[in-house]
Amino acid sequence: MAQLTPMMMQYLQIHEEVPDALLFFRLGDFYEMFFDDALTASRELEIALTGRDCGLEERAPMCGVPHHAAQNYITRLVEKGYKVAICEQVEDPKDAKGIVRREIIRIISPGTISDGKLLESKKNNYLMALYLEKNALGMASLDVSTGDFFVTQIEAKTREQWIAQLSDELGRLLPAEVILNSAMFKDEQALGLVENRFGILASLYPEKYFNVKNGSKRITEQFNVFALGALDLEHREYAIAAAGALLQYLDETQKRVLTHIKTVRYYNSNDFMVLDLSTRRNLELTQTLRTLDKKGSLLGVLDKTVTAMGGRTLRRWVEAPLLNRARILERQGCVEAFFTNAAHLPNFKNIMTRVYDLERLCGKLSFGTINPKDLLALKQSLSTLPLIKDFVELLDSDKLRHLFDTDDLLTDIWEYIEKSIDDEAPMVIKDGHVIKTGFHHEIDTFREAAEKGQDWIRELECQERERTGIKNLKVKYNRIFGYFIEVTKSNIAQVPEDYIRKQTLANAERYFTPELKEMENKILGAQEGLLRCETQVFQEIRDELLKEIPRVQQKAREVAELDAIYSLASVAITNHYVCPQITEDKIVQIHNGRHPVVEDMVGNQHFIGNDCTINDDDQRMLIITGPNMAGKSTFIRQVAIITLLAQIGSFVPADSASIGVVDRIFTRVGASDDLASGQSTFMVEMTEVANILKNATNRSLVILDEIGRGTSTFDGISIAWAVVEYLHNEDSIGAKTLFATHYHELTELETLKPGIKNFSIRLKDTPDGVIFLRKIIPGPADQSYGIEVAKLAGFPVAVTRRAQEILGHLESGEDTYRQELLVKEPPVLVGGKGNQLNFFDVAKSMTPEEEAALGIIRDLKIDEMSPIEVMNVIDQL
Ligand code: ADP
Repeated sequence: MAQLTPMMMQYLQIHEEVPDALLFFRLGDFYEMFFDDALTASRELEIALTGRDCGLEERAPMCGVPHHAAQNYITRLVEKGYKVAICEQVEDPKDAKGIVRREIIRIISPGTISDGKLLESKKNNYLMALYLEKNALGMASLDVSTGDFFVTQIEAKTREQWIAQLSDELGRLLPAEVILNSAMFKDEQALGLVENRFGILASLYPEKYFNVKNGSKRITEQFNVFALGALDLEHREYAIAAAGALLQYLDETQKRVLTHIKTVRYYNSNDFMVLDLSTRRNLELTQTLRTLDKKGSLLGVLDKTVTAMGGRTLRRWVEAPLLNRARILERQGCVEAFFTNAAHLPNFKNIMTRVYDLERLCGKLSFGTINPKDLLALKQSLSTLPLIKDFVELLDSDKLRHLFDTDDLLTDIWEYIEKSIDDEAPMVIKDGHVIKTGFHHEIDTFREAAEKGQDWIRELECQERERTGIKNLKVKYNRIFGYFIEVTKSNIAQVPEDYIRKQTLANAERYFTPELKEMENKILGAQEGLLRCETQVFQEIRDELLKEIPRVQQKAREVAELDAIYSLASVAITNHYVCPQITEDKIVQIHNGRHPVVEDMVGNQHFIGNDCTINDDDQRMLIITGPNMAGKSTFIRQVAIITLLAQIGSFVPADSASIGVVDRIFTRVGASDDLASGQSTFMVEMTEVANILKNATNRSLVILDEIGRGTSTFDGISIAWAVVEYLHNEDSIGAKTLFATHYHELTELETLKPGIKNFSIRLKDTPDGVIFLRKIIPGPADQSYGIEVAKLAGFPVAVTRRAQEILGHLESGEDTYRQELLVKEPPVLVGGKGNQLNFFDVAKSMTPEEEAALGIIRDLKIDEMSPIEVMNVIDQL
C-alpha cells in the first residue's frame, strides 16, 4: 500500500465502500477503471485495456470511457447485471490542496435505474427486499422510476408454503434486483429460485438494516406520518423490516432524498387472485411459453393502451385479477361506459397521445434529473386534463366520475410551468432561453442587456461597412477570441487607422476596436449572469414543483387507469366481446366462448366457439377426451382465460357469459420442461399437481391437461384417476375442474361420481382422413385417433400401417401377441396396453440358468448374512 501513488490510494479507499460494484473513477474528462474492474469492463464493453503507473513495479491495468458518453457504457454494464458506482471530483481542482477530493455520488444497479432510456416503458422495474425469519417472509418492492412502492408479509406454517408464495410473487413482479437478509441468503432453495429460476441479481444486505425499530423510523420519516397505522403497517414487522432495508439501500446507492416515493401500500394476498407461476405461464398471460414475447400472449391481445403508464397498469391488472364482486363491477362499469360510447373513443385516443409518462417524470423530478424539455412535457400532459374531464363528463357514468376526480385538474401546476418555462426551452440549461421572459426580473435585465449588445454588434457591422467601404466586412464571434471585425486580405488597404490587429488568417485579418472590446465585456458579462440566473431559477422552479409530486402522481394513476380501461373497451369492440355477468354463485356458464389469443391468430371467422357450463351440481367436473390436436387444450384454457378476464373487469370473448367469482385459477397444461431448475419434467408436473391439491378450494377453477403423461400408462392413469376423485369429492375439495386427457379409461368415472360429465371434441371421418371440427359435444370420444394424427403429420405409410396392426392386436387383448412382441422387440419399445415394463415381465423370458440364479437369490436369508457373505454369493453367480 505504502508504495502506491496518492491517487491510487484514494481509488482503492473509495472502492472499499463498494466492493461489489465497478467503480467509474472520474479523472478529468474520463471515467477510469483500474485493476480487476478494468479487466471486466474492457472485456464486457470491448474497449482498449491500457495501463497506468500506480507506484508499484507493474503498471495497473486501466481502461476508461469519456464522461460525456458514459451513460451508454453504464447502461450496457447494468444490463449485463453489474452494479456501477459513479465517483466524481467533488471540488474544483483549482481549489484542491494536494489530491482532488472525490466521492461516490450514485450507484446504479438493475433495480435502481431511473433513466427512461434504460427502461421498458410498459413494464415496471422493481427493486425488491426480502426478509426471512423462521417461516415468516417480509417483501418490499419499489419501482424507483415511478415511485410505486408496496409491501406485504407472509406468515407461513411451513417452509414449503412461503417458498411457493415467494415464487408466485417473484413471477408476478419479476424484479430486476433483490436484496436479501442472511437467513434468506442462506436458504439454498430460495436463493436458487431468485438467481437461477428467475435470473435476478441477488445480493446479501447487512442484517442490521432489516430491523423493525429502524425500519419503522425510516418509514415514518420518509412518508411523513406519525404512526405506522396511517400506512396500514402496524404490527407488520416482517414487511417493515424489508421496507426499512430497501429504503436504506436506496439511501446508500442513490445518495439523495427521493421525494417521489410518496407512499407505501400494504397489500394482502387476499385482495386479489393469486396466480401461481405455472398458471401464469401456462395461460400465457403476459408472455408466450416459447418465445417469452408479449406478442402472442393475452396481454398482447389486450394491450391497446396509448401511454406507458396505461400499459403498466393493464399489465398489473392482468397479473392480479380481483376477488371482490363490487370492485369487479366498478371496473367493469367503467369499461362499459367506454364500450357504449365507441364513437368517442378515437377522440380519447387522440388526447392520450399527448400525455407523457407522468409517473416517470415525477421520478426524474425527484432525482433532480429533470430538464427544461421534460417540464414542457409535463405541462403538455397536464394541458390534457380539462379535455379528459370533458370526455368523462360526456360519458356520464358515475363509476368513471368515481375514478377520475374532475375537481382537481392541476391547473395551478400547469399555469406555473406555463408562465415560467419558455415554450421553446431546450434540453440543457446551458443552451439558454429556459425561463420565460417576464417571469424573473433579473433574468429579463440580463437578457435585455445581452440582446441589446447583439443589436449594437449588428449595427456596428453596418456602420463599419459604410465607413470603410468594405462590403464583405463582418463582425464575428468565437469562444477563444471573442468578438472581432474580419476583413479579407484583398480589402486590407481600406482598413482604418483605429483598428487594432488581433489575429492573422491565411486570407483574412481580424481586428478589434476599444468600443468593441468594451461591448464584448458587457455582452459576455450579461450572458454569464443570465446563465447563472437561469440555472438558479430553474432549480427553484424544480423545488417548487417537487412539493406537488403527490398530486401529479395521483392524477397520473387516474389517467393510467382510464387508458387501461380504454384499452379493454377498444379490444372488446374490435373483437366482439360481451359484458359478462358477475355472480356470487359457483357457476360458470359461457355461451359460444372463444380463446382470445388463438382467435386473434386464426381469425375470428375461423375460430369455432364452444359452450361451457360448470355448475355446483351434476356438472362440476368435465372430462374431455379426444386425440391430440382436437382442440382440448384450447377449450379448457379459454374457459380459464374468460373467467380471468371477467375478474379483471374486462369484457369476454363469447356471446354471453355468467361467471361466479372464483378464488383461484390453477392450471397444469402441457409438458413444460423446466430444465433451468434441474427438475425432471415428471417431477415438475407432480409438484404442480401437488400444489393444486393442497391449495384448491370449492371456489377454485382447476384446469388439468394430460396429467400423468410423464410416467408409464398404468401409473399415469392411476394418478390421474386419484387426482380426479380428490378434486371432485366435496369432502376433499369439490373444485370446478376441466380435465383434458386421452386416457379413455377415465371416462368411466362419469358413472361413478355424481359431479362428473364426459365431453369430447367432434371429429369427422373422411376418405382422406379425419377432420377436426373443434366442437365440444357431450359424451366420451369413441375412438383413438392417434394414428390418424400421425398420418396427418406425415408419418411414412409403413409405420402407420404397422401401428394400426399392433393396435388391432392389442385391442383384441391377445396376450400371446404381447409375449411375441416382448421377445422380438427390445422391451422398452413396448408400452403394451399400459404395462410398465417390470422385472418379472423380463423373468418370463429367462434362460434356465438365469432362472436358477434367481431361485438362489430368492432363497437367500439376508437378515442372517453379513454383507460380505451376500457379495460372495453374487460373485459366484
Ligand atoms: P389438443 O389439446 O387437443 O391437442 P389444441 O387445443 O392444442 O389441441 O389445438 C390444436 C390447434 O387447433 C390449436 O393450435 C389451434 O390452432 C386449433 N384450434 C383449437 N381449437 C380451435 C377452435 N375452437 N377453433 C379453431 N381452431 C382451433
